[in-house]
Amino acid sequence: MRRPLVIGNWKMNGRSASVARLLNDILAGIGDCKAEVGVCVPFVYIPQASEILKGTKVMLGAQNVADHNSGAFTGEISAGMLREFGCEIVIVGHSERRLLYGESNELVASRYEQAIQGHLKPILCVGETLEQREHGRTLAVIGAQIDTVFEFAGVQSLEHAVIAYEPVWAVGTGHSATTGQAQEVHYHIRSLIGRWNPEVAQAVQIIYGGSVKPENAAELFAMPDIDGGLIGGASLDARAFLSICHSV
Ligand code: PEP
Repeated sequence: MRRPLVIGNWKMNGRSASVARLLNDILAGIGDCKAEVGVCVPFVYIPQASEILKGTKVMLGAQNVADHNSGAFTGEISAGMLREFGCEIVIVGHSERRLLYGESNELVASRYEQAIQGHLKPILCVGETLEQREHGRTLAVIGAQIDTVFEFAGVQSLEHAVIAYEPVWAVGTGHSATTGQAQEVHYHIRSLIGRWNPEVAQAVQIIYGGSVKPENAAELFAMPDIDGGLIGGASLDARAFLSICHSV
């Protein structure tokens, strides 16, 4: 059985006072939540968040990781550095990184590989743009994103990773994919992995991201191949995020 998973992606939001407030509010309301829960905070707040989350059941994560383990890579943060400050998870290949900063499938796969080697669990984001969907290319685009990761790190690496299906047209737009659209892609991703390794395909958590809110979370999470969510905007509001966490 796959355990449900809900991860918050705070993006570039917050200041130390609001970081403390939000984390303490989440801890106060998490109770006996059935899902595994994590938050991916901006790099500079990781030490602060690590102190607050130490010994709790909320996992700490970052929003990106370097594609090398050390050296002359100005502006990058390695997996080892993130581990040293208590991170367990890291987002790689978020659509904002791919589209706004030009991260290619190969660069994303290198970052994923570094996360695996550094004992961080990568949350590998995949997804199509609206144009790609309208041209019937959704499954091909996602297949290429995933295949590149397999070429770099092997399918077996998925035992230590999570896949997040995030249609670009649904991220931050307020317009979620329908349960049918999301389930279709999640099923496809699981089948794709299953061609390489059926056990890994059944075990890997595949979560959905794109305008998940308290109003649509339960319906999405009830689909057979949707194992939880990657939550952007709604993860900045403790009440909304907790409501989503308790929807599994
Ligand atoms: C995200 O940033 O990963 C995301 C899914 O954002 P939102 O929930 O705001 O669509």
